Amino acid sequence: MNIILLGPPGCGKGTQGELLAERTGLARVSTGDLLRDAVGKGTSLGKKAKSYMDQGLLVPDDVIIGLLRGVLGSPAAERGVIMDGFPRTVAQAEAVDRLLAERQGKVDAVLLFEVPEEELQKRILGRAKEAGRADDNLEALQQRLVAYHEQTQPLVEFYRARSVLIPIEAVGGIPEIAERVRTALGA
Ligand code: ADP
Repeated sequence: MNIILLGPPGCGKGTQGELLAERTGLARVSTGDLLRDAVGKGTSLGKKAKSYMDQGLLVPDDVIIGLLRGVLGSPAAERGVIMDGFPRTVAQAEAVDRLLAERQGKVDAVLLFEVPEEELQKRILGRAKEAGRADDNLEALQQRLVAYHEQTQPLVEFYRARSVLIPIEAVGGIPEIAERVRTALGA
């Protein structure tokens, strides 16, 4: 089973993705985590990605698609993956389709985490104080929301048209939302 977690920055998909991975034993892949790791290690991927990330802009598709090729083709992904933070553009979504098809896979479910915009801003600024991620400041956050609305939101219609989209009301406690995810997937 291949599951995509879709939603704006701060919607809680990372937290829910980890819980879902634990429960199902599927591999969770987060492009945000992979990119932050590459930046930390100073690899060539990290060097290419850093300035985009710090500004809250999307890293270019060719860089991300190269990264996905390795990840989705790996043995760990064979049973299925939970995709957190990608695809984020239509070009990435088409690449995911192609890469999954190479091993007879497809996108089975897309969970859309829905949170009101004011709540997102509150959450992410709270996180900025705690964790201190370089891109958790107001300016980068606004830019990440713009990137979400302009580049990622079209995926909602893309997947709705294929009848794989499942909206999740992502306001409430973590266990409560996890329960909604479980019910939605019937798992
Ligand atoms: P959030 O969901 O809170 O924005 P992520 O950890 O998913 O955080 O992403 C952080 C940053 O990493 C993004 O703002 C972007 O610069 C980069 N990034 C992560 N995934 C992708 C992707 N699939 N395509 C382009 N850029 C990405």
